Amino acid sequence: MARIVMKFGGTSVADLDRIRNVAARVQREAQAGHEVAVVVSAMAGVTNQLVGWCQALSPLHDAREYDAVVATGEQVTAGLLAIALQERGVESRSWLGWQVPLHTYGAHGKARIAAIEGAELVRRLGAGQVAVVAGFQGIGPDHRVTTLGRGGSDTSAVALAAALKADRCDIYTDVEGIYTTDPRIVAKARKLDKIAYEEMLELASLGSKVLQTRSVELAMNERVRLQVLSSFVDAPGTLVVDEDEIVEKEVVTGIAYSRDEAKVTVRRVPDRPGIAAAIFGALSGQNINVDMIVQNVSLDGTTDMTFTVGKSDLPRARAALSDAATQIGYAEISADPDVAKISVVGVGMRSHTGVANTMFRALADKSINIQVISTSEIKVSVLVGAEYTELAVRALHTAYGLDAA
Ligand code: ASP
Ligand code: MG
Repeated sequence: MARIVMKFGGTSVADLDRIRNVAARVQREAQAGHEVAVVVSAMAGVTNQLVGWCQALSPLHDAREYDAVVATGEQVTAGLLAIALQERGVESRSWLGWQVPLHTYGAHGKARIAAIEGAELVRRLGAGQVAVVAGFQGIGPDHRVTTLGRGGSDTSAVALAAALKADRCDIYTDVEGIYTTDPRIVAKARKLDKIAYEEMLELASLGSKVLQTRSVELAMNERVRLQVLSSFVDAPGTLVVDEDEIVEKEVVTGIAYSRDEAKVTVRRVPDRPGIAAAIFGALSGQNINVDMIVQNVSLDGTTDMTFTVGKSDLPRARAALSDAATQIGYAEISADPDVAKISVVGVGMRSHTGVANTMFRALADKSINIQVISTSEIKVSVLVGAEYTELAVRALHTAYGLDAA
């Protein structure tokens, strides 16, 4: 007998038939003698609609009321799934974030989990009751409803699995697992049997949208055994595990892309101490995340600084830089939103050379110009023109031998 957490995303609970399908899956695990806690997302599209309503009333709405509104999507699915389970004769009840309770810190709209009091849940699981927990939500220090940021029910599930000391956490979604790259772009993408936490963390933060980045971080820190699998197909999914559990380490495990960034160039800034601090201080003062950064060599005592920010932050980044114009002392700022970041990821890179060069060669062969490069121990990212996204991903997938036979 095991204790398991099963999480179902929005497409898996998109209508009543799908909720019935989920109930059947949950019943199977319960009948196998397992203790089961289920975490659900809102029905597909519902959170977007709720967010849209808040924005339509007021672009600068009160974040506490935003949370009161957007948390309702998960309340609906938790109640409906409990009913569907009861209808099949499975004893079950719904739990809202505040009822568990799942305590968060106070940043409404993107709250982090502080602690989960799981004792009552554990007692009921032991008595054979299935717990259906509303994902994405908790209760803040102000005793008000909080939400965990978009995609946050993955994080709810992993945190619950850690708190309940579950044997595993199964994330059910509309794809069969983690692929070498997006199968919509590369038909020959392969489903991975296993992927290391660190690789998954990189892929999630580099643009693969299967798991919320924070959920992977939490799983890695708490050593939660994660599996990503389909709620529509009966097949094993992808296990996210410790690197040591992967015997055959590929040099490159996966390729991610993101069109969510914009390139900014600050031209002709004086080349002297404190300039980078002035530029990036102005941006961080506005809570703007900067990703890739390059600084050119200086020729005439000035230099160009190029970096990327989230596309949605671009207007604020421009404003922050022009506010700090006299302090920084640049000649001009230019921005290009039509870029894509393409990244190759693999723990095998630690012990192999030539990985970046394979990337540059493959892109050169397709005449794709590289605008910015950044690397870490287990990834290489390049910035290219957005129109080359598909071509670049396909070329790299082939170059690293990832194509399915
Ligand atoms: N329903 C929320 C969202 O769409 C949380 C989630 O699905 O994970 O972001
Ligand atoms: Mg999701």
